[in-house]
Amino acid sequence: MPRYLTADESVTNIRLGPSFANGGGDARPLAASAASLSRARDIGCANGLRYVYTGNVHDRTGGSTWCRGCGRLLIGRDWFELTRWYLVEEGCCMDCGTPLPGVFEARPGNWGARRQPVLLRQ
Ligand SMILES: [Zn+2]
Repeated sequence: MPRYLTADESVTNIRLGPSFANGGGDARPLAASAASLSRARDIGCANGLRYVYTGNVHDRTGGSTWCRGCGRLLIGRDWFELTRWYLVEEGCCMDCGTPLPGVFEARPGNWGARRQPVLLRQ
């Protein structure tokens, strides 16, 4: 049975590096450009999704989280770097109190710019 996204679920369009595409073997460039990721984000937003992101590219607008209540930048991201954290402990906007869907720590983590391999299938 197909399941459709709700407006509050997040979607991230990421650009996979060659090492992910072919297990590091005969790596070849992928077709997904930053522009195509941004276009995919625009399409998602135009169709009612509130939290659509670009990933693995420098896109401060498309990689960040914005308040749906007042438009304020809530979680700023630039690739893997957090550039802003504007949430109260309960995960709401500091200005207008609109809750951001999700589970949040009281303070931002310290992930930083590093890679972590992810096993997608066993
Ligand atoms: Zn707000």
